[in-house]
Amino acid sequence: KEKNLRRPVWVEIDLGAIRYNFRQLKQLVAPAHLIPVVKSDAYGHGLIPVSRVLAEEGALFLGVSELDEALKIKEAGIKTPLLLISGFEREWLKEIVRGRITPTVSSLKELQILAQEAPKTAFHLKVDTGMGRLGLEGKELDLALEAILKEGLNLTGLMSHLALSGPEEPFTREQIFRFKATLKRIRDLGYPLPLAHLANSAGAILYPEARFTAIRPGIAIYGALPHPACEKVLRLRPAMKVLSRIIEIKKVSPGQGVGYGLLFRPQRPSQIAVVPVGYDNGYLRTLSGRGWALVRGKRVPVVGSVCMRALFLDVTEVEGVDVGDEVLLLGSGAEGDIRAESLAEAAGTIAYELFCLLGRLNSKVFI
Ligand code: PLP
Repeated sequence: KEKNLRRPVWVEIDLGAIRYNFRQLKQLVAPAHLIPVVKSDAYGHGLIPVSRVLAEEGALFLGVSELDEALKIKEAGIKTPLLLISGFEREWLKEIVRGRITPTVSSLKELQILAQEAPKTAFHLKVDTGMGRLGLEGKELDLALEAILKEGLNLTGLMSHLALSGPEEPFTREQIFRFKATLKRIRDLGYPLPLAHLANSAGAILYPEARFTAIRPGIAIYGALPHPACEKVLRLRPAMKVLSRIIEIKKVSPGQGVGYGLLFRPQRPSQIAVVPVGYDNGYLRTLSGRGWALVRGKRVPVVGSVCMRALFLDVTEVEGVDVGDEVLLLGSGAEGDIRAESLAEAAGTIAYELFCLLGRLNSKVFI
């Protein structure tokens, strides 16, 4: 085994929380199915361990954005069907066919490639109902449907993606309306389309009419909510916890500067702890003077500027604080919570980005 000579920073992934969140969502949207999104290393939570849990729980498909992710899941022996949610490349087709992976067709070009090289492959069609990213719309959608019908292609699902995550959004209702109209149109053409999926986490939680036959939750599976309004509908358990230890404690006099730029100057005699976590660990530099952590159950502020591999905490008020003390930087501990949604807001970003970075840049332990 490789020796770990890094300083102590670790990310704990609670697979029980992933399981719990899946069940909560399933109960909420039943009889609709779940297509959990595990792209980007399961939002930093670990592609294979997370996929295994979701497969055990009965996910209809696992949603990935790259062929590589699909192949890794297959190599791990996970049998749940895989859906490429963001289109595909011509070079992927051989593996798609061999692995019985379901591609999503989101352009006329992709449809042409599929018709030429793998016309029997079951696929989902992605339509753009207003997100303005991937998916067919207007004249191109007409042409695609014509071609699908003429060539008898194996269309088995319809999908689209929502642009907004808040409650009671007229534009979300418009997207749902457009999706429903397209679904009806395709079914009227004679395609039974057994699957129709539009909603991400926010759509699934806040708009029952957006659930159709399946939902594609990402962030909620990992225990964060895309919008505060979701809290009224369901409670989830954050799966990611980020921990470290204090490696030094400095006694700082009033007015004395700390760290790069000497940005922090306490007004009282202070104790400043150094923690070996920085922006190279995904602890964003925008959390300088804005983040917080828990030490011995007490909330302490991040002071001064976050460095590449270190940050400072003002631990003056933590009784008995010592070098070696555990520091909770994110997640739920016995002594309290640091929600990714709140920390992300302080950093000027979203929980998604924190998860991806913290999860990918640090060693993970699965519990
Ligand atoms: N569906 C698609 C096409 C996506 O790109 C994503 C994530 O970006 C999701 C579903 C899941 O979204 P969320 O994490 O907001 O639930």
